[in-house]
Amino acid sequence: MRPNVYITRRIPQSALEKISEVCNVEMWEEEDIPVPRAVLEEKIEEIDGLYCLLTENIDETLLNRAKKLKVVSNMAVGYNNIDVDAASRKGIMVTNTPGVLTETTADLTFVLLMTTARRIVEASDFLRNGNWKTWSPMLLTGQDVFGATIGIIGLGRIGESLAKRAKGFDMRVLYHNRSRKEEAEKTLGLEYVDFDTLLKESDFVCVMTPYTPETRNLIGERELSLMKSTAILINTARGGIVDEAALYKALKDGTIWAAGLDVFEEEPVKLNHPLLTLPNVVTLPHIGSASIKTRTLMAELAATNLIQAVTGQIPTHLVNKEVSNQ
Ligand code: NAP
Repeated sequence: MRPNVYITRRIPQSALEKISEVCNVEMWEEEDIPVPRAVLEEKIEEIDGLYCLLTENIDETLLNRAKKLKVVSNMAVGYNNIDVDAASRKGIMVTNTPGVLTETTADLTFVLLMTTARRIVEASDFLRNGNWKTWSPMLLTGQDVFGATIGIIGLGRIGESLAKRAKGFDMRVLYHNRSRKEEAEKTLGLEYVDFDTLLKESDFVCVMTPYTPETRNLIGERELSLMKSTAILINTARGGIVDEAALYKALKDGTIWAAGLDVFEEEPVKLNHPLLTLPNVVTLPHIGSASIKTRTLMAELAATNLIQAVTGQIPTHLVNKEVSNQ
């Protein structure tokens, strides 16, 4: 009997073919619209495997409808869209796609940092809007990146790759985790500091932790008030880690200098969101891992995890290790 699986969006052909070789596949075909909840509620009842994206909220109510679901394969490294505890209680495996997106996301994070520091979007708009009348000494001046201090909150796979890029710009690299990474400190010349010291001493504060109950609103009014008035906050992790109302206030009243955001608490962010009204905010539509090569690799890795789980193997990237096929 071939396992039945449901895929919640059109995925790259190579990943689809891989799954179709071993499974009966049904897929939500709309490119730009997430699968409606009602469709997912109906489909989940009879499938062995679900292949989903971070746009799907896989909560306990939904999981409770599943009669024989073995796995939820998320095409992302972050899995805050899935109630992992509820899945574990029901013996459902949850998988993710770590590693393959690390360098691409670190690239984007550094691009966003430089773009925000040197006011690239603002400068481009300035020219196109016909405001460039003459060269002027302090026109569109930003913050230097080379030699500055970067503070990375969450030095994991992506955080460490970001640190390597920063070292190439002769930056002082501070980091804060719940546990120290002494090997990286030695090989890359990084400094471990407590959370408040990182906030006080960094010119660039980069958020790179997963989104968990512990990291919700990790950066709020108190944390922003500790940062330098010339500091720039970069968030390419998840929106909910930064308190957006507090960030708006801090950017508006000059508590910090600017912010670069690839992620928002609610996505897609509403066009009337206060943060989008500020000139010192650079915004992107959650494109951290968006290179053709990397998104294809992520899709294929999520396919491999799914196939492994529905064919009785332990998936390579199993999040809830307490649940397994054995
Ligand atoms: P990772 O290797 O698991 O790294 C996460 C790091 O965060 C770990 O070193 C962890 O260290 C630290 N951390 C966890 N909780 C913390 C806390 N409360 N305070 C301080 N540090 C904490 O994950 P990754 O692969 O680098 O990915 C990181 C996140 O980036 C993902 O979870 C995802 O949400 C996001 N992401 C976004 C995009 C995008 O498109 N924008 C793309 C890829 C990933 P300790 O356990 O020692 O604290």
